[in-house]
Amino acid sequence: MEYEGQICRAPMERASFMLPVMVGCSYNQCRFCMLFKHLRFRILPLEQIEAELQRVKSLGGNPQTVFLGDGNAFCLDSERLLQITSLVHRYFPGCREINMDATVTSIAEKSDGELRALRDQGVRRLYLGIESGLDDVLAFMHKDHTIEQAYQQIERLHRYGFIYDAHMMTGIAGHGRGLENAEQLAQFFNRTQPGRIINFSLFLHRSAPLYQDIQRGAFSPADELENLVEERRLLQLLQLEYTEYDGFHDFLEFRVRGTLPQDQQQMIAALDREIAGQQERRSVFAYIA
Ligand code: SF4
Repeated sequence: MEYEGQICRAPMERASFMLPVMVGCSYNQCRFCMLFKHLRFRILPLEQIEAELQRVKSLGGNPQTVFLGDGNAFCLDSERLLQITSLVHRYFPGCREINMDATVTSIAEKSDGELRALRDQGVRRLYLGIESGLDDVLAFMHKDHTIEQAYQQIERLHRYGFIYDAHMMTGIAGHGRGLENAEQLAQFFNRTQPGRIINFSLFLHRSAPLYQDIQRGAFSPADELENLVEERRLLQLLQLEYTEYDGFHDFLEFRVRGTLPQDQQQMIAALDREIAGQQERRSVFAYIA
């Protein structure tokens, strides 16, 4: 199958077989995101999905984990998702879990019975773009949820046995608000206990709506040093039972990862070293052309 879009998924899913079930993102409104802005959202026909499964099976494929792409596959209605999961199990009898990205709204739109049926069909991990712990930031970024709505829907995921994983972005609250964001986000994560946290620290394409906000003075960006300090504060405050953490600062070519809580102190120490190095350099902002 020819892939349309930019692959962006949690690094922990790199060994999963990625099965596109749609092109683009059904929401496509987050102001920092340019992954799918150039694509017209469309749901792929079942025949096309089945042909891809046949192709992989004919090559001897029988993956244990399947990741449904793209931007927000959980937005598909439950009937379609159940058709897809049933096809996956028919072609890949070794499949143990089916994972995908979701939005808080796409969970809210599913009934309790639908969540139970999807879980019974092997849907296991849902990756949510939590991004920030501050409601005004979520609203400014045009995220489709509030903190309270996220609490409500994650509680439903836990009730039906899903694992919820979180995407977040240091820098999303802007200059001067990193520590405030870290503190609120830590409170959120401590209460919701994500299985994985992926920090794609804000890395902005110059054609993104948020970059236009910066140009017109509506958003004041944090530099990379501030983002590192924010991440350090977050890691210091997290009280998690068992969470894999991966934080990227692609612009600095720096990455901090490990399992919480056991690696917490080493990760903070790695951040301290990077912060000390950055303090001696010129302020940099993670923008790309
Ligand atoms: S929901 Fe995800 S993929 Fe869609 S616009 Fe927002 S950040 Fe981008």
